[in-house]
Amino acid sequence: MAQEAKQIVKERIARHGIECDWADGLIHAVHKKKWLEEEQRDAERLARDYDYDAITLLDRDKLAAAIGTDVYFGGYRDGEASHLHPLNFVLGMAKAAETAGVRIFEASRVTNIGKGQPVTVKTEAGEVRAQHVVLAANGYLNGLAPHTEARVLPINNYILATEPLGERDPIPGNEAVADSRWVVHYWRMSPNRRLIFGGGET
Ligand SMILES: Cc1cc2nc3c(=O)[nH]c(=O)nc-3n(C[C@H](O)[C@H](O)[C@H](O)COP(=O)(O)OP(=O)(O)OC[C@H]3O[C@@H](n4cnc5c(N)ncnc54)[C@H](O)[C@@H]3O)c2cc1C
Repeated sequence: MAQEAKQIVKERIARHGIECDWADGLIHAVHKKKWLEEEQRDAERLARDYDYDAITLLDRDKLAAAIGTDVYFGGYRDGEASHLHPLNFVLGMAKAAETAGVRIFEASRVTNIGKGQPVTVKTEAGEVRAQHVVLAANGYLNGLAPHTEARVLPINNYILATEPLGERDPIPGNEAVADSRWVVHYWRMSPNRRLIFGGGET
């Protein structure tokens, strides 16, 4: 499924010519020495059980050279994982959907979803009747669908971007990096040379 998901995204970017800075390569960095062995076992298991041979193990020095810090003990590079500019991707998908005939209404908060079929969906200014409704409002349903809402946990996660770093290039292979923390630290370079760093959760 993971392989297929990546393929679908890649195909859509190509088919609709979406400019979203697709770049191959994800580096996983281990922050506890005792977890290195497990990292190696994971890589071997992916190759053995799933024929996935895109993983390259990195020792401490190679990792430090690839990600611009020596605070991690080792890790791996996944050559078939990738990263992209999510907003530009979604804008490209919206454009493709509109070209295919989809009508998108922004700034139309849904205030109520009725029962039965067709379903009547109310917004502040009007209503829509539909055979199918896709509930896609993330963890912030605000009473719209209590049954689902009771089973979804909204979590805040935070990203910052530095000023453009100019000539400094902490990630020479332009991979995205994520570490082994439970609340993951993750970072990558933007095309205009900012370091984008994410982590922390409330
Ligand atoms: C900083 C950060 C980093 C993340 N990193 C990762 C990552 O690396 N990998 C990963 O897998 N996930 C990551 N996530 C989580 C991921 O972004 C979300 O899980 C995902 O975007 C949720 O998709 P969605 O379509 O359900 O909701 P969203 O993309 O949030 O879309 C919900 C939409 O519903 C609209 N909406 C809400 N209420 C209403 C209403 N009443 N009426 C009409 N519209 C409404 C909103 O305006 C919004 O457009 C991250 C999240 C954050 C905040």
